[in-house]
Amino acid sequence: GFDLSQFEVGDLIGKGAFGEVYVASHKRRKRVKVALKCMMKSQEDRYLDVDGHSTPVLAEVAMMLRLMNAPRCPNIIRLHDWVELEDNFVLILEYAESCQTLLQYIKDTGDIEENQARRLMRQLIRAVMFCTEHGVFHGDIHTANILVTLPRLELKLIDFGCAQPITHKPFNKSDYRGAGHGMPPEALRGRVFHANPAYVWTIGIMLYEIMHGRLAFCNRQSLMFGSIQINPRLSTACVDLISQCLIRNPVQRLQLHQVEEHCWFNPTTPNSLKQF
Ligand code: ADP
Ligand code: MG
Ligand code: MG
Repeated sequence: GFDLSQFEVGDLIGKGAFGEVYVASHKRRKRVKVALKCMMKSQEDRYLDVDGHSTPVLAEVAMMLRLMNAPRCPNIIRLHDWVELEDNFVLILEYAESCQTLLQYIKDTGDIEENQARRLMRQLIRAVMFCTEHGVFHGDIHTANILVTLPRLELKLIDFGCAQPITHKPFNKSDYRGAGHGMPPEALRGRVFHANPAYVWTIGIMLYEIMHGRLAFCNRQSLMFGSIQINPRLSTACVDLISQCLIRNPVQRLQLHQVEEHCWFNPTTPNSLKQF
């Protein structure tokens, strides 16, 4: 286990809807740091069973535990341990040192180059693929739930508070618990939806936002019916990838495994050489 009393709580580093995140450093070995995500217990807390535990645990913990078996994915923040108190949960997380949220990174950087974007998107896809392989649908991927370390641009996916286990059954709209930016149109329409195409939609939404500094759709109406305005200065491959991820019909949308095989990620293949 993890001995919290060995740690000294430091600055508040983040605030979400239901909790606060603090950095804490080890009292003797000051360079050892963790992030403490502290949440008030509420009526709506969901609990899930996890292998190897006799009692169900907070769903956020259960979903992260699925992802903590070796070999782990470097692009998903690590859960070291957790504590359940009478009124609070405390998640003891890997601390992403010298990081920004992707939201802040996009604001600060302005025009992000495709090379930079490609580097970030490769890591996001790695995180997403790892989640699907371990039966986890994140359900709340947006730019405040993605951390980017500087200057190395390592990406860490955080906040599994809305995550759902992937089963043989499709999801319903109510299973999409996230803020909504990444919600695919099939979920919004109230149809059932599947994890993989929903993830691909979100990947398109993230790539769009990185390349444009704003959301692809500003409201539900435009998400359902509007056309996407893509910057014509982007490479043909980048425009194609965004458009194919943001196809509203999930059956016609690019498939998850096709995303990382897309020529935007492989700029040296002969067919796409001229665009780079
Ligand atoms: P919530 O579920 O309330 O949205 P998050 O898990 O998204 O909480 O965390 C809120 C904010 O705290 C994040 O947007 C980020 O800025 C910061 N944060 C969370 N976890 C870490 C971490 N491990 N390292 C550094 N910053 C973090
Ligand atoms: Mg969050
Ligand atoms: Mg959350």
